[in-house]
Amino acid sequence: MYPSRFRYEAPRSLDEAIALLHDGGEDAKVLAGGQSLVPLMKLRFASPELIVDINNVPGLDYHRQDADGTLHVGALCRHATLEHSSLLDASQPTMRAAAPLIADPLVRNRGTLVGSLCHADPQGDWASVVTALGGAVIAQGPGGRRRIPIGDFVSGPFENALELDEVAVEAVIPPATGTRAGGYLKLERRVGDFATVGVAVAVETTDGIVTRAGIALTGVGGATIACTEAAQSLTGQALTPQAIEQAADLAAGVSRPRTDHRGSAEYKRHMVRTFVVRILSRTGPAAAEQAGTGEAEPGPATEKAA
Ligand SMILES: Cc1cc2nc3c(=O)[nH]c(=O)nc-3n(C[C@H](O)[C@H](O)[C@H](O)COP(=O)(O)OP(=O)(O)OC[C@H]3O[C@@H](n4cnc5c(N)ncnc54)[C@H](O)[C@@H]3O)c2cc1C
Repeated sequence: MYPSRFRYEAPRSLDEAIALLHDGGEDAKVLAGGQSLVPLMKLRFASPELIVDINNVPGLDYHRQDADGTLHVGALCRHATLEHSSLLDASQPTMRAAAPLIADPLVRNRGTLVGSLCHADPQGDWASVVTALGGAVIAQGPGGRRRIPIGDFVSGPFENALELDEVAVEAVIPPATGTRAGGYLKLERRVGDFATVGVAVAVETTDGIVTRAGIALTGVGGATIACTEAAQSLTGQALTPQAIEQAADLAAGVSRPRTDHRGSAEYKRHMVRTFVVRILSRTGPAAAEQAGTGEAEPGPATEKAA
């Protein structure tokens, strides 16, 4: 199907984009990678009258790390850039694991992390990853910039906290307080599929003790799920098998999967538990011993349904 008629604008500055959004009100939409918006328009689930294409706005295609370890991902940084980023190799194991699992190479070449957060699809992988890492989105509107913690930014399924005349200019991941470890596991029926179940885990440890933890779930509820209690249960202790099992039980307990053609709710809840155990076991002291280095490094991984 073809989209409804719309006006197309390709501003060359953020100020111009914001002014267009301001005038367009609820009939206007930002276009970044177009990998979610365009399919929705073709299906006529979305029929904006004005498209504000930000791809000609300079200075939004970056990801960089400050001296203190804060990571900034600009609004035009593509999934593929993150997939091949040596910066993530060194410092962001959860993002590193997730990046190659987003969609397929074609979608990764155009789609953006920030666009994925804005789209707020309960099956979007980045929202879970950024939630586990305690990240935020920087929004810019006529009144300037503001920082929105990810838990407030993703306000519901396909809903975000942006004002109609704001552009999300970057995502920010705070620096780790100790050694950062973690991973992302995704159950998908075939390569490039949306998650049947996705689990993001990020932990920070000092001298083997967890100083901060984040766990978030993809595709097993009406929105991205932050497993706050599970994460808190890990904080202040070592990643022992008992601590890992407890966190996995708590995470599975807050998942809200539905039975569908991809599997029963019970099966999906079981997979949440399994993935939490798997990621944390690769992260904990046992994994470190195995590696013989004192630090464990979980690699990217995907799990296919039979
Ligand atoms: C075949 C296919 C498979 C896919 N599989 C997966 C998958 O497995 N996992 C996954 O996570 N995603 C998947 N996606 C979605 C993909 O990751 C999209 O790239 C992403 O959801 C949206 O990013 P985008 O840059 O393309 O945003 P767009 O499509 O351009 O925009 C999406 C929405 O966000 C808004 N928006 C975008 N950027 C901004 C901004 N900077 N400021 C304000 N609003 C903004 C737009 O107005 C629109 O409402 C898939 C998509 C396709 C087509």
